[in-house]
Amino acid sequence: MIIGIPKEIKNNENRVALTPAGVAEFKKQGHPVYVQMGAGENSGFTDEAYKIAGAELLPTIEDVYSIAEMIIKVKEPIASEYPLIKKDQLLFTYFHFASSEPLTHAMIECGAVCLAYETVEKTDRSLPLLVPMSEVAGRMAIQEGAKYLEKPLKGKGILLGGVPGVPPAKVLVLGGGIVGTQAAKMAAGFGASVVIMDVSLARLRHLSDIMPANVITVMSNHYNIREAIAEADLVIGAVLIPGAKAPHLISREMLKLMSPGTVVVDVAVDQGGCIETCTPTTHENPTFIIDDIVHYCVANMPGAVPYTSTLALTNATLPYALQLANKGWKKACADNEELKKGLNVANGKIVYKGVSDAWGLPF
Ligand code: NAD
Repeated sequence: MIIGIPKEIKNNENRVALTPAGVAEFKKQGHPVYVQMGAGENSGFTDEAYKIAGAELLPTIEDVYSIAEMIIKVKEPIASEYPLIKKDQLLFTYFHFASSEPLTHAMIECGAVCLAYETVEKTDRSLPLLVPMSEVAGRMAIQEGAKYLEKPLKGKGILLGGVPGVPPAKVLVLGGGIVGTQAAKMAAGFGASVVIMDVSLARLRHLSDIMPANVITVMSNHYNIREAIAEADLVIGAVLIPGAKAPHLISREMLKLMSPGTVVVDVAVDQGGCIETCTPTTHENPTFIIDDIVHYCVANMPGAVPYTSTLALTNATLPYALQLANKGWKKACADNEELKKGLNVANGKIVYKGVSDAWGLPF
């Protein structure tokens, strides 16, 4: 199968869908790979590295779309890419159809086969192509939180780990899933005093087993949250209720309980946020202040570390992409239920219930 890797053109998207190591793997299994010149530049991969790995470099995005049988991308195609997509062309990327009706219509009309990273699902219901980005965001939340606790950035002026003779900062992590676990681990590594909350007792038991001694687990409820935010220097929002908006665990009124210069990093902002006062921000302007509380609410945190994010994402996508290339999408999806769950639109029809429900379109 002929593979095409276009350069991402969505604003501020610096990742690339395949690394030179991935190119080498496709070549080894007999698939030609065409990479748009400069596609890996912002992730730290040169055209030369792709060439050495066996890719053919093409100068324009049009060249890549016109030759490829399977396009592997990171973000959903944007409007200027719609006319480039051919009937029966296989697109393997994040789509998030339920948040864009025009994209859904465009993909139905062009007759492409759209396999969405975000709905590839394992039998335990985990989403293997979303996990790596949650891992990146969770770890980054502490790095950003530590930075904004510095006084010149309007924080309290507290060092996460303290120093001998001076107590460390107190970090509260709301939600003990992928993001929360990674955040708690990083904060603990810095030497902070960490509380992690979840509503699942089973999850708290697991966290209690695996976390170091400076992380304590606490049941998430209104009473406990009110008590904990009064003490916290850094609060990480990491809750997720699948298919629903994040619950507002910290209301506007509760900000008054927190001391000035406290930092909140609401990673769940992409699902509405678990702190009521959080609204999405960008890497150019990541924070704002309400009631003396510093809010960091960047909706695409992994975008700031494209090297790590690209490697993390491609580690997870490559095995699936190889199955698609080796077997063709029909056989690959028939053989692998996980991949089949990724099919959202195929040959002019919606084949994923969540997308048809979102737009009231036939399924
Ligand atoms: P996850 O499903 O692994 O974990 C969510 C956890 O929240 C679960 O353990 C669940 O039990 C817990 N939870 C549910 N309700 C709760 C409550 N009331 N109190 C405490 N815990 C509660 O999800 P995840 O992968 O960790 O993702 C968390 C959020 O981060 C999602 O909204 C995801 O979209 C977002 N995210 C954002 C970025 C970004 O760049 N901003 C990047 C990756 C993920």
